[in-house]
Amino acid sequence: MNAPLAGWFERALAFVFPDRCAGCGSMGALFCAACRAAARPVVEERAPPPGLDAVVVAWRYEGSVRQAVHALKYRRRRRVARALAEALAASISERPRGDALIPVPLHPERLAQRGFNQSAELARHLAQRWGLPLLTDGLIRQRDTGHQARLGRRERQTNVAGAFVWRAPAPPPARVILVDDVLTTGATLGACAAALRAAGSRQVAALTIARALTSGDHP
Ligand SMILES: [Zn+2]
Repeated sequence: MNAPLAGWFERALAFVFPDRCAGCGSMGALFCAACRAAARPVVEERAPPPGLDAVVVAWRYEGSVRQAVHALKYRRRRRVARALAEALAASISERPRGDALIPVPLHPERLAQRGFNQSAELARHLAQRWGLPLLTDGLIRQRDTGHQARLGRRERQTNVAGAFVWRAPAPPPARVILVDDVLTTGATLGACAAALRAAGSRQVAALTIARALTSGDHP
């Protein structure tokens, strides 16, 4: 579909099916002003997880933020990514430094099940907003690491070690901003950073929608 037609189609759809907030269910916006106002920011006081130079997190993983992330990932409401990316960009005081955005990749089987990578959707909107390149092809998840919800910090690190690799003709950018939905222990982001550094990146920062306060919190 060409762009004007797609725009018209989206407006027609919005008229017939008004947006419902992914956080609280009210009508009118995909992530409403009340949910944005109620989201509690995270101030990262601890050192970044191993392998990362900096971490920027928008909110605590709770309440309507948690609901909205669930809607995006498990109810496959792809459009929620744009609303969350916009709210995230408006809520953080400073974006991480970097030359390009790289989303944490899904394993191809998981990607086929869900139909899209939620982190890539978030990264795409942030890249547009900030005028940065988006690289979705180079970083590969070569092993399905399964659900990590019941694993502790050490187990997660072991589980994801070596799960990612950079596979592209050109090396990755010197300074990368990794994008993920939820930060728990940072093991996945750390494993991505290790793959990027092995391929030539010098600085790796991470940006996530939310921080889960306990490892069992993560979906
Ligand atoms: Zn709401």
